[in-house]
Amino acid sequence: MPIPGIPVLEGKYFATMDFYPIEAPEFNRISKFYENLAQKKLTTTKCKKCGTTPFPPRVVCPECNSDELEWVELADHGKVLNLSEEVAGVPLGFEAPLIHAIIDLGNGLRMLSRIVNCPAGQLKEGDEVKLFVFSIPPMIMDIKEGTKESPRVFFAFEPVKK
Ligand SMILES: [Zn+2]
Repeated sequence: MPIPGIPVLEGKYFATMDFYPIEAPEFNRISKFYENLAQKKLTTTKCKKCGTTPFPPRVVCPECNSDELEWVELADHGKVLNLSEEVAGVPLGFEAPLIHAIIDLGNGLRMLSRIVNCPAGQLKEGDEVKLFVFSIPPMIMDIKEGTKESPRVFFAFEPVKK
């Protein structure tokens, strides 16, 4: 992960300063989530035994401990229930405004997500937002076969243009 603005760290990867998940299947048992995300699909796991559908996805059902889970697709748009905007003092690697919102995705699922492509002061409660998938710096891994660069994606939501 390149560290912008700190020349001595340019081009170096510092795991402790990486806010994003390790997505590669070698290190992550829900890597399918990121494969789906790269196809612009927001997914999670559903328990085949009791139907519980938590987010984020799990490897074991939090209700009945079953590990018989299946992947299901979630809505790619929702409605803003509440939001916060940071306009100054945002963490290194982020740009102001840094907006987060609780989003209602329907079917009883609410999610806290970052909102992008939105100027400060524009987003309001009740506004429609849609999924936005973007590339993040790849993860450099040391594995048995040597060094591997694993591409990564992550998601946020963006306002639906009116
Ligand atoms: Zn269950």
